[in-house]
Amino acid sequence: MRSPVRHYVGGGFDGSGVPFPLVDPVRGTTAGEAPAASRELVDRAVDAARAALSGPWASWSPAERARLLHRIADGIEARFEEFVDAECADTGKPRELASTVDIPRAVANFRSYADLLVGRAERSWNTPTPDGRGALNYTVHKPLGVVAVISPWNLPLLLLTWKVAPALATGNTVVAKPSELTPGTACLLAEVMAGAELPPGVFNLVHGGGGDAAGQWLTEHPGVDAVAFTGESRTGSTIMRAVAGRLAPVSFELGGKNAGLVFADADLERAVEGTLRSAFTHSGQVCLCTERVYVERPVFDAFAEALAAGARELTGYGPMVSAAHRDKVLGYLGKAAADGRILAGGGVPRFGDDRDGGFWVEPTVLTGLPEDHPAVREEIFGPVVHLAPFDTEEEALALANAGPYGLAATVWTGDVSRAHRVAPALDVGIAWVNTWNLRDLRTPFGGVKASGIGREGGDHSLDFFSEPMNVCVKL
Ligand code: NAD
Repeated sequence: MRSPVRHYVGGGFDGSGVPFPLVDPVRGTTAGEAPAASRELVDRAVDAARAALSGPWASWSPAERARLLHRIADGIEARFEEFVDAECADTGKPRELASTVDIPRAVANFRSYADLLVGRAERSWNTPTPDGRGALNYTVHKPLGVVAVISPWNLPLLLLTWKVAPALATGNTVVAKPSELTPGTACLLAEVMAGAELPPGVFNLVHGGGGDAAGQWLTEHPGVDAVAFTGESRTGSTIMRAVAGRLAPVSFELGGKNAGLVFADADLERAVEGTLRSAFTHSGQVCLCTERVYVERPVFDAFAEALAAGARELTGYGPMVSAAHRDKVLGYLGKAAADGRILAGGGVPRFGDDRDGGFWVEPTVLTGLPEDHPAVREEIFGPVVHLAPFDTEEEALALANAGPYGLAATVWTGDVSRAHRVAPALDVGIAWVNTWNLRDLRTPFGGVKASGIGREGGDHSLDFFSEPMNVCVKL
C-alpha cells in the first residue's frame, strides 16, 4: 500500500491541489494519486525557503550541515525497504535495481557531500604590495539562496538527492519538484527531512507537472535564485528562457545519444557483456545508456551476433515508465523496422498475465540504418541499440562525435595507447574505457553540447551551489 503523496512546505505536510493519477508501469493500472501544487502553494514554498535563509540555518557551521546530511542518510537507511517499494511502484524497475543502485546511491549522495564538506580546504594568497607589508586574500563561500531542484522519472531519488545534498551542504534552501510520474520517494525523503531536525523551510517539496504547472512556476519565480535541473534537453532550453530575465544560474544535466566504440583489439566477450549492461540497464532508461555502437569491421559480425543473442536472453528487465514513453519507443522501432534490420527484440513481450497491460518493450538490437535516421540521431531512452561498422579510428571518432549530444561514451580496446588517444578526443563529459557507469562521486559529471551545462559531482557541485567571494585584507 502506497503512502499518501503530499507536498512539504515550511516544515509541514500539505495534501492540497487537484489530484492526478499515478500509474503502475508493470501492469498499466491506476495505482494511486498525487496532488498537483497550485501556483499559490509554489509561492508559499519559495517564501518559506527564502525566510529560512535568514533564520537559524544561516549560522549552521559546515560541520553541523555535514552532520545533518548524515542524519538524512541514516533516515533513508532506516526506511530502506519502504524507499525501494516506492521507487519500484512508481518506475516499475526491478527490485534488484532499486535496492542495489537507486536507494544506496541516494544514501551515498548525502554521505559523500558530508565528507567532502568537512574536508574542504580554502585557498588563501599572501599578496605582495609596494610597501612590503603585503595583503591577505581569502575566499568566503556563500550559498546562492533559494535553489529549485527539478528532477526526472528515471532515477527519481538518486537524481533528486544528487542535487539536494550539495545544495544543503553549501547552506542553500531548497524547493524540490520531482517528476509527476514518480513522486513517491521524494515524499518519503520529506518525511525523513521532517525527522532530521532541520529548520522549517530549509527543504520544501512540491508535486505536479512541468509546463504550465509547478515546474514552470518555480523556474519563473523571482524568488528562486538558481535552478538545478535534470531532464530533457528541450526542457533545459525552456527553463533557460524562464530564468534569462533575472540571469539566475543553472546547472543542467540533459539528454544523450551515447556512443560505444568497439575496436578489434578489445576483449570481445567483455565488450559484449559491457554493452549489454550499458544498453539495457533499466531498459535503457538511464541517461548514460549506450544507444549507438560502432564496431571495427573485422569483429562486427561476431559482436553483432553475440550482442543480439545476449539481448534475446535477457530476463528480469522492467517496463517503460509510461504508456506515452512506450509509444514513443515503439514509434522509433516501427521506423527502424521499415528502414533497417532488427537483430533482436523489436516488439512487446507477452507474459500471459496482468503484465500484458503494462508498458513493456523487448531489448532490441538494430543495424543497417543510415546515420541520419531518427533512431540513430535522436535520444530514444529505451532498450534500443543500433550497431554500425567502422574501418579506421578517425572514422570511429567522427561517428561518435556527430550529432547534437555529448554526455557519455564507452571505448572497448586492449591497446592502452589507443585508449588514451581516443577517450580524450571524444566530445563528451564522461568517457569510460573497458567499463561503463563506474562512478566515483568526486569526479566531474555532466555533458557537453546539448547534454548539459556545468558539472556536478564532488567539488564541482559544491562550487555550483555556492558563491565564492574574495576578501582582501591589507596587512
Ligand atoms: P523532462 O524534461 O520531461 O522532465 C524532467 C522534469 O522537468 C520533470 O520534473 C518535469 O515535470 C519538469 N518539467 C517539464 N517541463 C518543464 C518546464 N517547462 N519547466 C520546468 N520544469 C519542467 O524529462 P524526463 O522525461 O522526466 O526525463 C528523461 C530525460 O532526462 C532524458 O532526456 C534523459 O536523458 C534525461 N536525463 C539526463 C540525466 C543526466 O544526468 N544528464 C540523467 C537522467 C535523465
